[in-house]
Amino acid sequence: MCNYLSPLVESREAPRTGFGSFALAPIGTGTVVAAFGGTIMSRSLFSNFPTEQQSRSLQIETDSFALGPVLREPGDLINHSCAPNCGMRNATQLIAMRPIASGEEITFDYSMSDASDYDEFDCACGTSQCRKRITGNDWRLSELQMRYQGMFSPYIQRMMSASGVARLLTKREAELLMNNYDAHPQQALSRALRIATGMPHASWQSLIDAIEIDDHQRALLGGLDQSALDKLAQRLNESRTV
Ligand SMILES: [Zn+2]
Repeated sequence: MCNYLSPLVESREAPRTGFGSFALAPIGTGTVVAAFGGTIMSRSLFSNFPTEQQSRSLQIETDSFALGPVLREPGDLINHSCAPNCGMRNATQLIAMRPIASGEEITFDYSMSDASDYDEFDCACGTSQCRKRITGNDWRLSELQMRYQGMFSPYIQRMMSASGVARLLTKREAELLMNNYDAHPQQALSRALRIATGMPHASWQSLIDAIEIDDHQRALLGGLDQSALDKLAQRLNESRTV
């Protein structure tokens, strides 16, 4: 078994989603109901596995995924809800966010653990708070950040803090960026972004994950597209303090 499921919870077939996990007894706030395991790997390796297996996996860092087992097992079967009763205590453990009644379905919001596009889907959770479409960018929604305070995976929490402390470059830092940019674009941008995001040791991927840009630009920057790099350098240079 890769996953842990509390003895207070049972996984079984369910009408709407085909499967689900349900409380067998009342569960108190803060109780660990499940822990997700798997084989840890980078996104590029992870992308080679079947979509169904990816959907039973968990993102635990900006570029780390715990690939779920080949065959379904009990801890795999916890559905997303836009009005969930559980949240992430850390990268892998799921805890009750509020008291859960016996018979209630165990759910969490996948925005609490996923900040990539490997498991995006149309949601039919049926709750009044349903977002209809679940994406890897949902953690950026300020409403969710408020509602799920302390219930996000640590790497997402870190990205939120980074966007909170983001600051503009000083004139001198912006000049340094532009002076080094032509010879070493990625290196110069990394240095500037580490200052701007307050993440002094972050990798290129973590930096571009943390900044406010659309998915297309993020993908281009990930592939070191020259015009996307130019645009980012220009933006950082123009938004410097005087
Ligand atoms: Zn929903």
